Amino acid sequence: MDSKILIIEDEEKIARFIELELIHEGYSVKKVYNGRDGLLLATEEDFDLVLLDIMLPELNGLEVLRRLRKEKDVPVIMLTARDAVMDKVSGLDAGADDYITKPFAIEELLARIRVALKKRTKSENILTVKGLKMDCARHEVTYDGEEIELTNREYELIHTLLINKNIVMSRDKLMDIVCGYDYTGETNIIDVYVRYIRTKIDDRFGVKIIHTVRGVGYVIKDA
Ligand code: CA
Repeated sequence: MDSKILIIEDEEKIARFIELELIHEGYSVKKVYNGRDGLLLATEEDFDLVLLDIMLPELNGLEVLRRLRKEKDVPVIMLTARDAVMDKVSGLDAGADDYITKPFAIEELLARIRVALKKRTKSENILTVKGLKMDCARHEVTYDGEEIELTNREYELIHTLLINKNIVMSRDKLMDIVCGYDYTGETNIIDVYVRYIRTKIDDRFGVKIIHTVRGVGYVIKDA
């Protein structure tokens, strides 16, 4: 199966290098050198994955991502400059699936592409608990049929707890999965997301979805 990948990167040498490596790995590849063309192509054609540089002429990567997310939930890996922490955070909040810092080893990029593609095929199912329904293919969450708006990380947190139903997950583990292994921000970030989720779901529908396990972490229980 040859997955279709779109490269949106204005540094032509880098774009060309990635393209050659991806073709070598058996992917089919298209590349464009500015944000506007990238957004157009990503919207018009079906890709299995988009590699999106942040600093782009005409339309920057974050804006491309924001507009693309209104149309499609294709996996997106952002290419960020070294130490641009804000870019990573904004990218993930805007709906990127992952990011990689330039300069990167091509093996690392290939590994992340494989993970993003696998996550995609694996997630074509529906997870439920009580009235909560998570449609992974559509990236949609509802409670008793009513749509719930979640940020990417809130979604990822519920998703992780749902696929590990009845298993207590530690804050550290959740942080690795939801924020990435190299996350170095606030250590109580998971508690913050849980609080947001409780406002959006528990308070609104009068249920208890995520249980706190004192001193350990969180769990979603079947009953
Ligand atoms: Ca660039």
